[in-house]
Amino acid sequence: MIPIAKPYLTEDEAKAAHDTILTGWVTQGPRVQEFEEKFAQFTGSKYAVAVCNCTTALHLAMIVSGIKDGDEVICPSMSYIATANCIMYVGAKPVFAEVNPETYNIDINHVEKLITSKTKAVLIVHQIGMPADIDAFTELCKKYNLKLIEDAACAAGSSYKENKIGSHSELVCFSFHPRKVITTGDGGMITTNNEKYYNRLKLLRQHAMSISDRVRHSSSKIIFEDHIEIGYNYRMTDIQAAVGIKQLEKIDWIISERRKIAMQYHAAFKTIKCIRLPIEQDGYCSNYQSYSIYLKDTCPISRNDLMQLLLDNGISSRRGIMTSHRETAYAAYCKDLKLPVSEDASDRSILIPLFVPMLQEEIDKVITVIKKLLLF
Ligand SMILES: *Cc1c(COP(=O)(O)O)cnc(C)c1O
Repeated sequence: MIPIAKPYLTEDEAKAAHDTILTGWVTQGPRVQEFEEKFAQFTGSKYAVAVCNCTTALHLAMIVSGIKDGDEVICPSMSYIATANCIMYVGAKPVFAEVNPETYNIDINHVEKLITSKTKAVLIVHQIGMPADIDAFTELCKKYNLKLIEDAACAAGSSYKENKIGSHSELVCFSFHPRKVITTGDGGMITTNNEKYYNRLKLLRQHAMSISDRVRHSSSKIIFEDHIEIGYNYRMTDIQAAVGIKQLEKIDWIISERRKIAMQYHAAFKTIKCIRLPIEQDGYCSNYQSYSIYLKDTCPISRNDLMQLLLDNGISSRRGIMTSHRETAYAAYCKDLKLPVSEDASDRSILIPLFVPMLQEEIDKVITVIKKLLLF
């Protein structure tokens, strides 16, 4: 069976975790600081704050942006549900915008129509690694005095106009879940160029404790911490960070391998007229966290039949990106909301296997079987 995804973890990561455990300092210590510094350097942002996953990163991004009860935040429904949930966590309302049917990225024209006097922020998602048009959203947010927050859960190492995702705006949230391009088991990071945000994020992720463990540990004088507001425990452990440092050393190679596989898929599938392949516009560079295929209505078989036939042939696939407004958790909140473009894109697309290292035989098998099923 060819899996849909597989994390690239080796003896390096195992040794880094092992060595960190034996130092005795296993959370919020030197490895976390090192991972933050290296991640900030990698993305080209001033600061990075490590947290336990991207959902908590998004939650803290909402808090430091001042989003609260009664506010509205515009985001795509077509995304992992955590995108919408983080807005709910602070008592605000996610207002769901449509996506562009070709890139699946949030549709700026629809966003502009949804802005009201209650709108406080726009939360964009770089869909399965493909960057959204950050400049256009930056301009829109400036025009209406809104905050821009980026859900870059899938987009570590992707770039937009020559710069890595993480360097462009004030709050960019990443995930290191095993389904993403690099992993720490679970884990997250927020990058920011704003020093005030940076300081508050560091406080909030650790119970809003005024003096960090690192500072207390190295102080030659007795010092006591104060908890200056209601904070959270959203810490990343040093064991995770040690793994992350090793993953970061390999990320350029992982992404170049992922892109090579994606290019093989492009080359093989571009003659199949009944499907649409991912579109990477000039100035956009995806890490291909996932490779999605859209089945047009001329397709000879249904999405679900295709998935079943792939499975029968030993190939895993997944449904396309979900829509939040059709999940049970949002049934009452969204009542009769219809988002035809997002629903169609979600229902007619599949994700196919893409991981590193993927054997050439495995790539060839995926190509051959998909061609066989769709070209007749
Ligand atoms: C994976 C994902 C998240 C959640 O990340 P966790 O690290 O699992 O909390 C949020 N948004 C998007 C778009 C994702 O793909």
